[in-house]
Amino acid sequence: MKTKQLPKSVKITNCTILDPFAEKEFAGEILLKNGKINDVGKSISADGVDELDANGAVVTHGFCDIHAHFREPGREDKETLVTGSQAALAGGFTTVCVMPNTNPPLDSPESISFIAEKAEDLPIQLYPIGAVTVGQNGKEMTEMGEMVKAGAVAFSDDGIPITDGEVMRLALEYSAQFDVPIINHAEDVDLRGTGQMNEGRWSTRLGLAGIPDVSESIMVERDLQVAGYTGGRIHVPHVSTEKSVHAIRRAKENGVNISAEVTPHHLYFDDSALQTYDTNLKVAPPIRSEADRDAMIGAISDGTVDCIATDHAPHTVEEKESPFEYAPCGMIGLESAFGAVWKMLSDKKMSLLDVVRKLTVMPRQIIGFDSDLFAKGAEAELVFLNPDQEWTFGFEHIRSKSRNSPFVGETLKGQVVSVVSRGQIISFK
Ligand SMILES: [Zn+2]
Repeated sequence: MKTKQLPKSVKITNCTILDPFAEKEFAGEILLKNGKINDVGKSISADGVDELDANGAVVTHGFCDIHAHFREPGREDKETLVTGSQAALAGGFTTVCVMPNTNPPLDSPESISFIAEKAEDLPIQLYPIGAVTVGQNGKEMTEMGEMVKAGAVAFSDDGIPITDGEVMRLALEYSAQFDVPIINHAEDVDLRGTGQMNEGRWSTRLGLAGIPDVSESIMVERDLQVAGYTGGRIHVPHVSTEKSVHAIRRAKENGVNISAEVTPHHLYFDDSALQTYDTNLKVAPPIRSEADRDAMIGAISDGTVDCIATDHAPHTVEEKESPFEYAPCGMIGLESAFGAVWKMLSDKKMSLLDVVRKLTVMPRQIIGFDSDLFAKGAEAELVFLNPDQEWTFGFEHIRSKSRNSPFVGETLKGQVVSVVSRGQIISFK
């Protein structure tokens, strides 16, 4: 990995420009001045500028992940804002929203300010998501208005669901005043019980307690109905079941103000992969059946699910080396995200433009960020891709402080060659 300061004026040449906002693809050039977009076009005449040969790479918007856990403050042994940012860059992500289930949680204007101030020195754009309830206790609402002023871009108690329907109603009503989404980890904890993996043929065969698919879709249904009733905005994270997809499709048809995301791992794996008992495949919601995975691929293709988000969740080797029943849920996912989703979705005939939109324009629009990154004057957030490159994901590709990835050893398709972010160009070749 090499990091260099961008020259004051630099023209990127010899590339295919993929514009996910205008939905165009063409051979062209990009002129950057002082780290900002000056021009994007077929051929740009500019004298006395440095040239950067992209060697035929596809150049597009930097990816945006609206669901990551960077563990700071409290568990800096797993990840910090700095190491999480490095993992993001390695995956082509230049904007990341971090979840508030830290220790202590991001549940006050002061804790949001703490992250927002630290973010100023990071090599990516990083934004905090605030907790819905104080201490994520599920009961007492946080000061959302003050937290939005301090920099919170959404609210979530992720890691745990908002079980109290009245709290969900209030959360949707309050957040609507600031036009920010509520993101609820949809899981009926009583139905989950002591479940370890998706309930079905494979849980029976492997002798692990099952988590039924309805434990997710029941709460998705409740959330969508409360959102419809209040007019608030709900974002459904890490959708994993066909039943949830049906619920989301129906609510969208009825005009409910909702969006949804799917993770790379729910697009890539099905529960037969658990036969290795690899604890890195223990996630919440669990890796589901083949039929569910097919439904996720269908839903991201037809737009029922709006975007891809990683749910990057670092854990220590010691924790993940414990027996399956005791291992915590979660896997890291930033570095492998593009190679995993492009492999799965190109195989299903999705175009590169469509897949890139799910990693750029769509997540940015859900949070309310500018999504036309090629507009003149926009701060340069670019990713250079080699989409045809097949490669084997290994520990050497991991920049996270943790290494809990079930993708190690998997052959992926599509590599991130370099990234432009915050006035720097970072190359991975
Ligand atoms: Zn979650």
